[in-house]
Amino acid sequence: MSNIVAIVGRPNVGKSTLFNRLTESRQAIVKEISGVTRDRLYGRGEWNGIEFSVIDTGGYVHGSDDIFEGEIRKQVEIAIQEATVIIFVVDVMTGIVDLDETVVKILRKTKKPIFIVANKVDNTERVGLSSEFYSFGIGDVYDISATNGSGTGDLLDDLVKHF
Ligand code: GDP
Ligand code: MG
Repeated sequence: MSNIVAIVGRPNVGKSTLFNRLTESRQAIVKEISGVTRDRLYGRGEWNGIEFSVIDTGGYVHGSDDIFEGEIRKQVEIAIQEATVIIFVVDVMTGIVDLDETVVKILRKTKKPIFIVANKVDNTERVGLSSEFYSFGIGDVYDISATNGSGTGDLLDDLVKHF
């Protein structure tokens, strides 16, 4: 299996919710890896007959939002080494915050395809809020709602083109 999607981003943007959605029919084989990689989850997804692995980074400190920038850096660096394609999740409700910029700085070092996923676009009133994420200059922006699934089909259509 060489089709690997890594989901990166700061805490609370919706990475795990998206992970669950991308792997929803395959939950049974999602498992937590022991040891140093315990804070990453691996799952399997499928779209239009194309199978892929998904990595959810940033379990960071379980049950806590109080995390160190260094921990995010480490997780993102590992993820981009392992990934074929990177999903960088951001939150339209907060807009750009400092920790997003921290992630962007690391992502600039890779030539791997990056999909900026503007999450929490739950309704039409929130469409348009995501345009600021184009200012990162590292990839196209996809509006989605990980909780209700809107936009994820368009995202996956483009994502699997890289496999
Ligand atoms: P993570 O820390 O990046 O893994 O984020 P989680 O997936 O744990 O989600 C953080 C919070 O955002 C939770 O309360 C989720 O229910 C919420 N959330 C995730 N996706 C969405 C979404 O599409 N819309 C809304 N309104 N909330 C979301
Ligand atoms: Mg999470």
